[in-house]
Amino acid sequence: MERQDDKSALATIAARIAAAARLADRKPGDVTLVAVSKTQGPEAIEPLLAAGQRVFGENRVQEAAAKWPDLRARYPDVVLHLVGQLQSNKAEEAVAQFDAIHSVDRSSLVKALGAAIGKTGRRPDCFVQVNIGEEEQKGGCAIADLPALLAQARDAGLSVVGLMAVPPAGVEAAPYFALLAKLARDHGLVELSMGMSDDLETAVMLGATQVRVGTALFGARGTAA
Ligand SMILES: *Cc1c(COP(=O)(O)O)cnc(C)c1O
Repeated sequence: MERQDDKSALATIAARIAAAARLADRKPGDVTLVAVSKTQGPEAIEPLLAAGQRVFGENRVQEAAAKWPDLRARYPDVVLHLVGQLQSNKAEEAVAQFDAIHSVDRSSLVKALGAAIGKTGRRPDCFVQVNIGEEEQKGGCAIADLPALLAQARDAGLSVVGLMAVPPAGVEAAPYFALLAKLARDHGLVELSMGMSDDLETAVMLGATQVRVGTALFGARGTAA
């Protein structure tokens, strides 16, 4: 994908979200764009901040800690989401740093996050990540374990706002998005974190409230611009 200038890259994504929302009789404003800035340096992030983007996603606690304090000092209204796997021993740092955590997926992590919330007094929005394609190596809780994990998370004081999933690669994502949406409805959860650069329209049409977009905003990761 060609790298556009940052304002037009943002406008293109906003237009894609709006078009899909209209088709599904939804309001474009009900979908939050999380700009996934993992592996991107401040020089790539700054132009998006200057263009008005405020919600960003990172997949590693350490990387975010190195990059964001300086940027946040200049843009205090930034909202930072953790979209990657989280180790329990980094729970406190994650709670201190992030406003939302999309990867709550197991009992030990719920415990660690509950303790971190108690200690720091911070209470980020939490999404329970579901292994929606029941894939061996993938993060996310098994669908069968979701009710118990949600109950445990609420008991532990987490603010659970919704569900998150990354569907299997290489197959049509729609059935997986639809299943995640059904699970969220069944559990009375309003937020749905699903859809990335290549499938955000499908996700929005099926109810996504947060789309996590990296490549379509920043260009391919790990290649020189
Ligand atoms: C990297 C990443 C994204 C963004 O993916 P793109 O295909 O670059 O848009 C979204 N969600 C998660 C969990 C990611 O790790």
